[in-house]
Amino acid sequence: KKEGTKLLKQTKGKTKFTKGEVGGGSFQSMGLHPSLLRSLTLRGYKVPTPIQRLSIPTLLANPPRDLVGMARTGSGKTLAYMIPLVQRLGGRHASTFGTRALILVPARELALQVLKVGKELARGWNASEGAAHVGDNNDDMGANIGASTNSKGQALRWGIVVGGESMDEQFEMITSNPDVVIATPGRLLHLAVEMNLDLHSVQYVVFDEADRLFEMGFSTALTEILHRLPSTRQTLLFSATLPKSLVEFAKAGLQDPKLVRLDAES
Ligand code: ADP
Ligand code: MG
Repeated sequence: KKEGTKLLKQTKGKTKFTKGEVGGGSFQSMGLHPSLLRSLTLRGYKVPTPIQRLSIPTLLANPPRDLVGMARTGSGKTLAYMIPLVQRLGGRHASTFGTRALILVPARELALQVLKVGKELARGWNASEGAAHVGDNNDDMGANIGASTNSKGQALRWGIVVGGESMDEQFEMITSNPDVVIATPGRLLHLAVEMNLDLHSVQYVVFDEADRLFEMGFSTALTEILHRLPSTRQTLLFSATLPKSLVEFAKAGLQDPKLVRLDAES
């Protein structure tokens, strides 16, 4: 069913607009873990928004694909990257890995909002429930990033790295091995440079509100951060607008990204 959505396809530096294929019309058809489906239902999310419908299947596909998602404020971009994040992390803490997912946001209050969404989504994860589902999905949707074999399923650990908090406390938090770190670029870079914060396990990176990240002058910090991340990472960029500076950044930092661009009304 066409919804007036457009996919922006990029080929050899040239962009062309095509009418979008709308895949996976429901959360149930996306191959999500039963715990995630239950969590979505519990919180009243019945059907995916257009940006979620177009992004989630791509983000869960194998091999992982980078993605640029552009849609207006309020269109549901947080869950568009958070649902695949929780699924790809296997919904549980993996003690043998460092931080596996990194979400960069322009401001402290947004970091807290995103943290809340993520924690609520992952709450009540039942590892045994999805054992068969997760176990033999190597060619299926949603391959895990360092999924723990711990069937007890310790809860995912979340960390926040934002300005205005004590550096020492944040460093301590980060050495407690959080699976997901939500950060503002300045403080994260500071921890990486001054305190040797290790980012080598990061496999899923999100630039949220990327236009605001750039407006606030974080572009140098973001490029620095990118250089410290493994080249094998999956990189996502979500934004309400796509100014030229952002397109340039995406070209440099993302690999052959799928571009999902929605009309204002979507
Ligand atoms: P954006 O980041 O695009 O500005 P948000 O992710 O903050 O948008 O979501 C905006 C609002 O829409 C939030 O209150 C969120 O809970 C709600 N929302 C997100 N996805 C859905 C959905 N599938 N069904 C119903 N409400 C949703
Ligand atoms: Mg948002």
